[in-house]
Amino acid sequence: MQLSYLSEPSVLYNLQYRYSQDMIYTKAGPVLVAVNPFKKVALYGNEYIKAYRNKTMDSPHVYAIADSALREMKSDEVNQSIIISGESGAGKTETAKIAMQYLASLGGGSGIEYEILQTNPILEAFGNAKTLRNDNSSRFGKLIEIHFSTTGRICGAMIQTFLLEKSRVVQCAVGERSYHIFYQLCAGAPTTLREKLNLKKVDEYKYLKQSCCYSIAGVDDAEMFRAVTEAMNIVHISKEDQDNVFAMVSAVLWLGDVSFTIIDNENHVEITVEEAAETVSRLLGCSIEDLNLVLSKRHMKVNNENIVQKLTLTQATDTRDALAKALYASLFEWLVEQINKSLSVGKRRTGRSISILDIYGFESFDKNSFEQFCINYANERLQQHFNRHLFKLEQEEYVEDGIDWAKVEFEDNQDCLNLFEKKPLGLLSLLDEESTFPNATDLTFANKLKQHLDTNSCFRGERGKAFTVRHYAGEVAYDTSGFLEKNRDLLHMDSIQFLAKCKLSIPQTFASKMLAQSDNLESIPYRPSVADSQKLSVAMKFKGQLFQLMQRLESTTPHFIRCIKPNNLQLPAIYGQELVLQQLKCCGVLEVVRISRSGYPTRMTHQKFARRMVFFFLRMLRLKIHLVFRLQFFINSTFCLRCIKLATQSCSSELVRLATLRILGIVLYM
Ligand code: ADP
Ligand code: MG
Repeated sequence: MQLSYLSEPSVLYNLQYRYSQDMIYTKAGPVLVAVNPFKKVALYGNEYIKAYRNKTMDSPHVYAIADSALREMKSDEVNQSIIISGESGAGKTETAKIAMQYLASLGGGSGIEYEILQTNPILEAFGNAKTLRNDNSSRFGKLIEIHFSTTGRICGAMIQTFLLEKSRVVQCAVGERSYHIFYQLCAGAPTTLREKLNLKKVDEYKYLKQSCCYSIAGVDDAEMFRAVTEAMNIVHISKEDQDNVFAMVSAVLWLGDVSFTIIDNENHVEITVEEAAETVSRLLGCSIEDLNLVLSKRHMKVNNENIVQKLTLTQATDTRDALAKALYASLFEWLVEQINKSLSVGKRRTGRSISILDIYGFESFDKNSFEQFCINYANERLQQHFNRHLFKLEQEEYVEDGIDWAKVEFEDNQDCLNLFEKKPLGLLSLLDEESTFPNATDLTFANKLKQHLDTNSCFRGERGKAFTVRHYAGEVAYDTSGFLEKNRDLLHMDSIQFLAKCKLSIPQTFASKMLAQSDNLESIPYRPSVADSQKLSVAMKFKGQLFQLMQRLESTTPHFIRCIKPNNLQLPAIYGQELVLQQLKCCGVLEVVRISRSGYPTRMTHQKFARRMVFFFLRMLRLKIHLVFRLQFFINSTFCLRCIKLATQSCSSELVRLATLRILGIVLYM
C-alpha cells in the first residue's frame, strides 16, 4: 500500500496496522521507517533479495533502500550513504547488517563481500554489551564504507568507529554486562588456551562480578566464541595475533583483581603479590616490579625537578582502572586497524562507494553524563544533515522551479549547534578550557557554563552541578559529575612508558606510537606527566571525527532509515503508541510527513515527469476528454513550461513532439 497523501494520523495508523501484519517497514515520504519486530520475520533471505533486485517486489524494505543506493551510485556516479538512526535497541545494527547483506549479494563475486560481513561478529564481540535497553547494544558508533569497482563489484571496505565506551570495562550497572568477548572467552576457550591464559569463571572476576549479570537469554557465549575466532580467521587475523588478543582480554580481567596493601599511615600502597598480579605480568610480558611501580608511584616534574609521588589506595585503584581501559581501547583500535588492512582497496580504488552509518541515537535518561552529552551533540549534527536534505534542499528546489509554495517551517537546530560549537563561549570550548585548569572541578565547570551561557535560549543552568540543553528532540538535563575527567581521559606518562616496555605486541605498539607522537614531554605545567599526543581532549577529538564524518556524508546522496522501538521490553507484538509517537517526533519523521503533505506527494525528475505528462495528455486527447483544465491545480505554468521544453528536447518521436506543442497551447490557454 502506498499513501500518496500523508498526514500524521494516517501515518500512525498505518505504521501500527502494518506492524500487526509483520510489515515492519513503512515509507514516510523519502524516509524508511523500520519498527523493531523483536522476533524473526519472514522478510529476508535470497528469495527476497532476488525479488527486490528484479523489481518484482517494491513494498518498503531495507533491501529497496539498498537497491536504490546501488542503482543511483551506478547511474548518477555519485557516492551514496545509508544513514540509520534511532534509540538504543531500535534495530539500527540489525538494519545495517540487512543492508550489508543485500549489497554483498548484489555486488558479490570477488569473495571479499564475505570478509566484510564477517567483520560484524568481531566488532560486536569487542564493542557490544548487554545493557538494560538492548541485549546486544553497540557501545560505539560505526561507519562502514563499501567500495565498488567500476564494474559494480565490491572490492573492499573501510571501517571508522566513534567513541567506544571504555568505562564499561571497569564499571557497569547492575543487570548489564561488560563487553561480550570477556564472557565468550571464559565460556568458549579450549583447554590449552584456558590454561595458558589462566582463565577463571566469569563470576570470579571483580570487573564482571559487580553487575551480577553473566549470561544473556538465548545466547550461547561458548558458541559465539567459536564464531568470533572463525570470523577472525576469515579476515586474516593470524593465529599468533589472535593469541595476543585473548591474552590482552584475560590481562584486563586479571588486572581488575590486582589488589593493594597499605604500607603506611598515609594510605600509600603497594600491589599485593598474588595470583592476579602474577598473571597480569606474565600475560603482558612485564616484571612484577614494573607493574608495582606503575600502579603505586607516579613521576612528576615540579619546578623543573623530578619527584616521585607515592599513590594512595584511591589513586592506585584509579591508575589500575585507567590502565585496564587503555589496554582494552588499544585492543579495539588495533582490531579495527587489522580489519581495515585486510579489507583495504589500496590502489585498486577506482569506483564508487556506499557508506552505512550505524550510530547511537538521541539519548535522554534520568541521569545524563558526558557520554550522552557527546552522543546528543552528534545527533544534533546528523539532524541538521537530515533537515538540510529533506527540508531545506527540497524547498529550495521548489522555489527554483517556481512552484507556488507555502513555505513549511521546520525546526532548524542551528541555535543548538551554535551553543555547542561557538568559540570561545560554547559548551565544547568552555569544557576544554576548564579541563586544562589543574584546580577546576565539575562544579566550577557548571558555574562557568551558567556564567557565560545563561542568556542562550537553548541553555538553562540548573542547581548545583547540572545544566539543561534544549535539543531538537527535547530538553536534556546533564549532570557534570565526571565531565572533566572523562574529557581529559589522561593516561599518565608512567603508564604509557610501562606499556611500551611490555613484551605483548599490541599494547607495546600502541604506547610506542603515543610516545613517538609526543616529542616534547616537558609539556604544560598543569599536566606534569602527560604525553603531548593526549593534549587533544576527548570532546575535541570527537568533534574532529564528527566534522570529518559530515564532510564525507555531504558528498554522498543520503538515504535515511529511522528505526523505531515499539516497546521497552524487547518483546514482540507490543506496540506502545505514545512511545512510537515520541520517537517519530524526535527523529523528524513527522515533520517529513508535514512537508510532504504541503509539497507534492510524488517526486520525479523533470524529464521523467514531462514524459509522463505528455503521455497522459495524449491519452486524454484521444479520449476526447476536454476537461484538461481540471489538471490545472497541479500545473504551475513555469514548472510546466520547463518540463515541456525538456520533453520536446528529449522526446524523439514526432508524434510526441506534436502532442507536446498542442499541450503547450492548452496550457497557455489555461
Ligand atoms: P540498536 O543497534 O538500534 O541498538 P539492534 O539492531 O541491536 O538495536 O536491535 C536490538 C534487537 O532487536 C536485536 O538484537 C534483535 O533481537 C531485534 N531486532 C532488531 N531488528 C530486527 C529485525 N529486523 N528482525 C528481527 N529482530 C530484530
Ligand atoms: Mg547497535
